[in-house]
Amino acid sequence: MKQNPRRKFIRNAVTASAIGAIGLSACSEAKKSESQGPYINFNNTYRWKMTTTWPPNFPIVGEGCKMLADWIKKMSGGRMEITVYGGGELIPALEGFDAVSNGAIEMNHGAAYYWAGKIPAGQFLTTVPFGMNSQQMDAWILSGGGDKVWEDLYAPYDLLPISCGNTAVQMGGWFNKEINSIDDIKGLKMRIPGLGGKVFSKAGGTPVLVSGGEIYTNLERGVIDATEWIGPYHDYLMGFYQVAKHYYYPGWHEPGAVLELIINKSKFQTLPSDIQEIIRTGALRLNRWMNVQFDAKNGEYIQKIREVEGLQIHQFPDSVLEMLKQYTTETIRELVETDPKSKIVFEAYDTFKKQITPWVNVSDKVYYQTML
Ligand code: CA
Repeated sequence: MKQNPRRKFIRNAVTASAIGAIGLSACSEAKKSESQGPYINFNNTYRWKMTTTWPPNFPIVGEGCKMLADWIKKMSGGRMEITVYGGGELIPALEGFDAVSNGAIEMNHGAAYYWAGKIPAGQFLTTVPFGMNSQQMDAWILSGGGDKVWEDLYAPYDLLPISCGNTAVQMGGWFNKEINSIDDIKGLKMRIPGLGGKVFSKAGGTPVLVSGGEIYTNLERGVIDATEWIGPYHDYLMGFYQVAKHYYYPGWHEPGAVLELIINKSKFQTLPSDIQEIIRTGALRLNRWMNVQFDAKNGEYIQKIREVEGLQIHQFPDSVLEMLKQYTTETIRELVETDPKSKIVFEAYDTFKKQITPWVNVSDKVYYQTML
C-alpha cells in the first residue's frame, strides 16, 4: 500500500519529537546530578549602577541604556533595579572600564575602542576601517565565536563583555574644504579617533582628540578643519552643518561600530541564574534596537541635511578611498606585529570575514546595487 507522504512526515515528526523528549529528560537528569539546576532566589533584590561613556540622555545610545534598565526591572519582577548614569554624572565618561573592573560600579555601556590605550586589540571588536558592517559584526560576535574571543580578552580584568548596540555605517565627516585627492588630506586637522585616526595620519593628516562637547566650537574657530561624529541624526543635532560646508560619505573608518555592555564578572556570577539570563536577553534586544534605530533616524535626518542651503554632500573619490585602504592595511599590520593580543583578535576577525566574504559578494554587495 502506498503511504500518504504527509502522514509519513507527521509520523516521522512525532517519532522524532518523542525521541527528542526522552533524550531531553535523560539529559536534564544528567545535569541535575551534576548541579542543583538553576539558582533562583525570589527574595533578594539587586540594586546596580550602570555608568555610560555617553553624555546624559544622549539620543539612541543613552536613551537605550535607560530602556534596558526598564526592561530588566520588568522582566525580573522588580528584583533587579539598575540606575543609569550619563558620562560625568557619577564618574568621568572614560573611567567606566576601571570602575567596573575593580567592582566600584557593576556595569558600563560604551565601546571597546575607548580602551585602546589599555587594550589595543579591543579596537577590532568595535570597528575596523573598510571592514565588516553591523550585520557582519553581529554575525561574527553572536554566531561566529567573536564573543568568546572578546570574553577571553577581558577575563584578566574581571569583566564580562556583551555586544549591546551598533551605530550602523557612519558618515565620513564634515570638512571645511573639498577632498578631491589624497593630497587634500595633508596638513588637515581632523577629529577622528581609533584606527581611522591612525590611517588618517598616514595620509598626512593630523588626527586630533576632541571631546564631543567641544567639537562644534573647535570647528567653528578653525582649531580643527574637519570632524567625524556618527551619522546624519546625531550630526544634525550637533549642528555641524552651520560650521562646515562639505559633508562626506561613506564612513570608511567606522562601517558599523559595536557598542558594549561590560559587567563585573564576579558580581554577575553571584546573581541568580534567571537574572543573568534576563540581563543577557535585555542586552540582545538593545543590541538590535539601537542598530535599527540608527538606520531609521539616519534616513529621516539625511533628508533634513540635504535641505540645508549652501551645504554640499559628496562621496569620497575612489582614488582617495583606495589610498586610505592601503594605509589601513599598513596600520593593521603594524598593530598586529607589535601587540600579540591584537594578533589573536585580528586573526579571529579576519578568518570570519574571509569565511563570509564569498556569500556577501553574491548577496548584499550585489543586491544593494539592484535595489529599487
Ligand atoms: Ca564616529
